[in-house]
Amino acid sequence: MRLRLLPLSDRPLRVAVVGSGPAGFYAAGALLASDPPAEVDMLERLPTPWGLVRLGVAPDHPKLKEVSRAFEKIAARPGFRFFGNVELGRDARQADLAELYDGVVYAVGAQTDRRLGIPGEDLPGSWSATELVAWYNGHPDYQHLEFDLSVERVAVVGAGNVALDVLRMLALTREELASTDATDASIEAIAGSDLEELVMLARRGPAQAAFTTPELKEMGELAGADILVDLAELELDPVSEARLEGDTNARRNLEVLREFAAREPAGSPRSVRLRFCVSPVAILGDGRVEAVEVVRNRLVDERAVPTDERETIGCGLVFRSVGYHGVPLPDIPFDEDTGTMPNDGGRVLDEAGEPIPGLYCAGWIKRGPTGVIGTNKKDATETVELLLEDARTGKLPRSDAPADALVDLLVERGARPVIYAGWEAIDALERSRGEPLGRPRVKLCSWDELLAAATES
Ligand SMILES: Cc1cc2nc3c(=O)[nH]c(=O)nc-3n(C[C@H](O)[C@H](O)[C@H](O)COP(=O)(O)OP(=O)(O)OC[C@H]3O[C@@H](n4cnc5c(N)ncnc54)[C@H](O)[C@@H]3O)c2cc1C
Repeated sequence: MRLRLLPLSDRPLRVAVVGSGPAGFYAAGALLASDPPAEVDMLERLPTPWGLVRLGVAPDHPKLKEVSRAFEKIAARPGFRFFGNVELGRDARQADLAELYDGVVYAVGAQTDRRLGIPGEDLPGSWSATELVAWYNGHPDYQHLEFDLSVERVAVVGAGNVALDVLRMLALTREELASTDATDASIEAIAGSDLEELVMLARRGPAQAAFTTPELKEMGELAGADILVDLAELELDPVSEARLEGDTNARRNLEVLREFAAREPAGSPRSVRLRFCVSPVAILGDGRVEAVEVVRNRLVDERAVPTDERETIGCGLVFRSVGYHGVPLPDIPFDEDTGTMPNDGGRVLDEAGEPIPGLYCAGWIKRGPTGVIGTNKKDATETVELLLEDARTGKLPRSDAPADALVDLLVERGARPVIYAGWEAIDALERSRGEPLGRPRVKLCSWDELLAAATES
């Protein structure tokens, strides 16, 4: 099929947005609100939209998940179509989309995790936080995982909000979990487990921790777990002390941590211990995780430098939470080091550093796995502004494919797309299952259940 440059007024711009997380929806919103409005087809590998808002954000944070209301409003605008259960790379490729659309915005997030690169990392019982998070949130690809929660101590490596999510979720009581949309299996496993102590291992000091103060404070408000912090680990070197001057989050974190350290434990069934300046150097065990060996670090200009001091912490499970990482898609440039698509403000660049006409990215695959949900709005809007500028200045290849060409292509490939009405049927069923129990929803979490609910609409 030929690509040609049409004057912008001929017909609305047609854009494919790949991925339906915050970045995808904010990009779609900006496109649909442009003048004249563009038409957007959103392609998503799961039958359900919202990306990490559904499958990453912790189930005990329902208010944060309500951002999906804004996404629902975007989906209701004329010119928007959703094609779930369509995976780029499997059901369609970039070359297909380049023929069918004037522009393509990739908002596929960061689908895998960073590794620690230490011995023992692959022992049974050593997991990524990604896996646990996807499991308790009902991601259909992760429901077969079996976390042995019969152990007494768990180590969580990392000091960001995801690490705190993992510690908190594992520390919640049955009552605290009961009103959430965590899967029934995970509620049963966590509430019925033998866990006694959850230990966070932060590589650097408290002033450098990435977690934010409201999330940290919550750790001190758990019904069934004491928070334990050793005052000695909160001592700051002069450089860290200086950081507090200009870093409000670090300053507030320190205040909260000092208050935690001064607390007398209440003797709760579980405890969450926050450790600083320790890095795992090996995960130990005979056939499964039995301990983690850590080295004490000292800070040199805020960098962690290992000392000779080592310690072995007995634990039956390790969760590494040291960052997410993007995965490459076929035929699209990818930077392995950063896990992102090389880009300039969202214009995807070729090997020579030149923008590839019609190819854009937004969200975590554009800037890496940082920032909160709202960060993706500015990020996606920036991308869309460049796309619209390219359209105005004639730099966008314009497709002469008919509007329904994607449907034909998917049928030809044997794909079974879930359209927005299908997702609404899933949504209604999940909410109706949750309502009598006082829960926001009871999620369908197998592919079969999801696809069956979608096709019954
Ligand atoms: C565990 C966790 C907890 C978090 N908690 C919070 C929080 O409490 N508050 C907050 O503000 N932020 C939170 N965040 C951050 C927030 O979720 C991210 O900023 C945001 O989701 C990134 O948006 P995105 O659209 O780039 O990626 P994602 O949300 O990951 O969306 C990407 C979408 O692309 C789809 N996709 C991937 N590959 C393909 C493909 N090949 N074909 C088609 N579709 C594809 C995925 O299925 C997914 O739906 C959290 C993040 C994590 C990991």
